[in-house]
Amino acid sequence: MNIPMLDLKAEYALLKDEIEPAVCAALAACQYIGGPNVKAFEAEAAAYAGVKHGISCASGTDALLIALRAIGLGPGDEVITTPFTFVATASTVLMCGAKPVFVDIDPRTFNLDLDQVAAAITPKTKAIVPVHLFGQPVHLAPLKALCEKHGLKLIEDAAQSFGADLGPQCAGRKSGAYGDIGCTSFYPSKNLSAFGDGGLIITDDDALAAELRVLASHGSRVRYHHHVLGYNSRLDEIQAVILRTKLKHLDGFNNRRIAIADSYNKQLAGAVETPYADGRGRHVYHQYTILSDRRDAIQKALTEAGIACAVYYPVPLHQQEMFAATHGDLKLPVTERTAQRCLSLPISPMLQDAQIERVCEVIRNTLA
Ligand SMILES: *Cc1c(COP(=O)(O)O)cnc(C)c1O
Repeated sequence: MNIPMLDLKAEYALLKDEIEPAVCAALAACQYIGGPNVKAFEAEAAAYAGVKHGISCASGTDALLIALRAIGLGPGDEVITTPFTFVATASTVLMCGAKPVFVDIDPRTFNLDLDQVAAAITPKTKAIVPVHLFGQPVHLAPLKALCEKHGLKLIEDAAQSFGADLGPQCAGRKSGAYGDIGCTSFYPSKNLSAFGDGGLIITDDDALAAELRVLASHGSRVRYHHHVLGYNSRLDEIQAVILRTKLKHLDGFNNRRIAIADSYNKQLAGAVETPYADGRGRHVYHQYTILSDRRDAIQKALTEAGIACAVYYPVPLHQQEMFAATHGDLKLPVTERTAQRCLSLPISPMLQDAQIERVCEVIRNTLA
């Protein structure tokens, strides 16, 4: 039985009859850029997240870059973030000419260690960018208090957590909707995904929303008048149609991910360290990630059995060449140890119970 990491084929088969007519209608309407579906999706996604403004763009990376530019990030500034994430969380800081400051992670949640964030604040710090890694909400209430105390901006990287609930401490808000700005990605592997690239920036702040739109649209406030250096970053009509259709399924799909994680937890208890959910909010399991000292043996056995699995992330950002100039010999022990012991198992709303059992059986046999 071959088991993929993410079963997009099964998902397509399920949604085909809804998506294909909608896509065909958009093709025939010929408003490929700036069409009605883009505007409708922005409004629907913002309403879903519980914020006033949704600004679509070309990718999650662009969402972060545009958000950082909108708060005026530039040379000499610092941004505190996690080293245990996809590169775009911090490469976008470099793109603005600023410096990412990496703080170690909590060994259980894999998210920023909040106790270490306060100590990393300097007069140059401009923002904090937490990532709700693997779909687990960061405990944002104390981070927001810290930002307010020091006059910093809070920008949520919600690329892996669209639809996650932040919990009662964050007034029951969705991930991305609690900071000054939230950024998400619709890359095909994300919880809400397009059939290509796409991104969304959300905010409740009217002035920031206006600036975000200007930056995503060639720095233009008035057509053909360009005020600041901007970007050509757009979601197209076809992706917007697909996303509108899939948004209706997001909660159902996320619920299924949670049920799959529960099933893995039960079947893997005692064999490996199963993901820790702090219970504050609703973890939406973008990835189901275990820890084991025998990670490499498990990975080999699963691969040989035709079961996909992946190490997210094998090289933490502070050890990447891209950041060598600023972080030469920085040591972040929890992150480094996690990178050596983590393994993400197949997770997809389409995963069948028999497939989950098979994954767990191979892992248990390997460790027996
Ligand atoms: C996927 C991802 C991004 C970037 O999104 P793209 O749409 O691929 O540009 C940024 N941050 C995190 C945490 C991600 O997982």
